[in-house]
Amino acid sequence: MNHPIFYRPEMNVADLSCGSPSAGKPAAFMEMLRRNRLASRTKTFEPVTKEDLYLVHDKEFVDGVFDGTILNGFENNDPRVAQACLYTVGSMVAAAQYAHTSWTAVCSPTSGFHHAGYARAGGYCTFNGLMVAAAKLLEGDSRRRVGILDCDMHRGDGTEDILAHKPELSRRICHLTSGRYFYEGERASDFFAWLRSSITLLNAFGCDVVLYQAGADQHIKDPLGGLLTSEEISRRDRMVFNGIRAGVAWNLAGGYQTVTGKTEVQRLAPVLDIHVQTRVQAGLVSLQPAAR
Ligand SMILES: [Zn+2]
Repeated sequence: MNHPIFYRPEMNVADLSCGSPSAGKPAAFMEMLRRNRLASRTKTFEPVTKEDLYLVHDKEFVDGVFDGTILNGFENNDPRVAQACLYTVGSMVAAAQYAHTSWTAVCSPTSGFHHAGYARAGGYCTFNGLMVAAAKLLEGDSRRRVGILDCDMHRGDGTEDILAHKPELSRRICHLTSGRYFYEGERASDFFAWLRSSITLLNAFGCDVVLYQAGADQHIKDPLGGLLTSEEISRRDRMVFNGIRAGVAWNLAGGYQTVTGKTEVQRLAPVLDIHVQTRVQAGLVSLQPAAR
């Protein structure tokens, strides 16, 4: 099944020279999907507001990033970055809410969330869209629970920081980040054992929705990664989509392989190919709700 993808052009920042591909990756990913005839079911959504960001971030930090007195996650104060974040975070919120009501796998073509902490930006992450999406879901019903399964190569230290500042949220969010345990060159079999037990934990926690960071930087050839082959990344995605007993909202997260090329799509092709495969794997399953 070709599942929905929450995309708007305002999610991108063109020509941001920052060393990370993520500012223009949503548009490049959508172009790659179109070439593979996988871009149908694209849905629009509303951006979040600053008030939504205040749910998980310090107000002075949010306001400082918007007025340019505090650097964003790209370590500049280009006002377009904060503005685009209202749309990237909005995409994650919309995907999570759709996954919750539909019990399907839903795509948010976003990156740049998990290093953003309560009052700090960094590592190409300005605001934490995972935590905003979780907080917005939890605000709707006191019985709800959310999982965050972070399979980016790097540790979700910003998410951990927000959870430490927000005990009322941390009781209802199960956050598991593989970057806390796995580094370049470690055994794939150990990662898969961790993933299997993480899926069991999330199902036992009773998640209504799981937010899944399907990072491409876990790839063995990634300059900031080095853990899984292409086949193993597809196996990872299949395990998640087949194993989670809840709606799944997945996003792109990191990926830093590049090749020479004239266009962004050409330069990012190795990373975009990995993300396209995640979309294919997600489309092959129909998720089963938890029996409870
Ligand atoms: Zn990463």
